[in-house]
Amino acid sequence: MTTLLLTHPACLEHDTGYGHPERADRLRAINDALAAPQFKSLKREEAPRAELAAIERLHPSAYVEMVRATIPTRDHKWLDPDTVVSPGSWEAALRAAGASIHAVDQVVAGKADNAFCAVRPPGHHAEPSRAMGFCLFNGVAIAALHARAKHGAERVAVVDFDVHHGNGTQVAFWSDKDLFYGSTHQMPLFPGTGALDEAGVGNVFNAPLKAGDDGDEFRAAYEERILPALDAFAPDLLIVSAGFDAHLKDPLAQLRLLEPDYAWVTEQLMEAAAKHCGGKLVSTLEGGYDLEALASSASVHVETLMGAAS
Ligand SMILES: [Zn+2]
Repeated sequence: MTTLLLTHPACLEHDTGYGHPERADRLRAINDALAAPQFKSLKREEAPRAELAAIERLHPSAYVEMVRATIPTRDHKWLDPDTVVSPGSWEAALRAAGASIHAVDQVVAGKADNAFCAVRPPGHHAEPSRAMGFCLFNGVAIAALHARAKHGAERVAVVDFDVHHGNGTQVAFWSDKDLFYGSTHQMPLFPGTGALDEAGVGNVFNAPLKAGDDGDEFRAAYEERILPALDAFAPDLLIVSAGFDAHLKDPLAQLRLLEPDYAWVTEQLMEAAAKHCGGKLVSTLEGGYDLEALASSASVHVETLMGAAS
């Protein structure tokens, strides 16, 4: 299998300031881990910039312009209490969104079987007109709309295993029956959304988990709720919001996943993609704030995508 790895040095230049959990060292930890010999066969490319027209399929131009106007020439500014921008943030945000878009192009064209985008800032909390939760542009939702507009995809699914609910993706997909959003997440927890009865037009499938839940509850949520719904939806393309902050060691949440749980969920999603869409799967980094757990979990995820994990 050919797995495409997209990243860009500009994603390290989005500076969130001292003590912020969503920091450049996260991406450095992943890059270091993916430099190991078992990742030699990855197809590596630099993420291109997203075109504004692609971003504006989701985000109104007034919002995009507001984000750009907020970027400071020095130090930091805040889009909300959690969401910091620095001089490098605009370029990083364009590269992060561009990674998901380019990954879709490459996977749909058959130039890679699947892809992982090691980028930041993350995206799944960004609503069409609102930055929040460390997120500026919602890369997975932008990529889904791009797949429809440019590649004629009829049904695109996003599955989100970040420990936080992807409120932005849910809002973006809410009333469109040809877009699927399925999420496991800890609840109650930021951002507060993601209850079982938030169902859109029958296209949104939330599976909230409780603090202290481990891989058993996580796997049950997939087996009983997310995977059957995904199977019934039968996507043309599967996009994954891959956050690794449900790991036992993560400081921002209280789920207890371990690396084998990330291998398992990756395998399940690959099987669903193989069944419905020729294996076409694009995964994008969201959260994950313990550097060691993030690096090892992302490694297991990518190894599984490469078909090389045991
Ligand atoms: Zn998260």
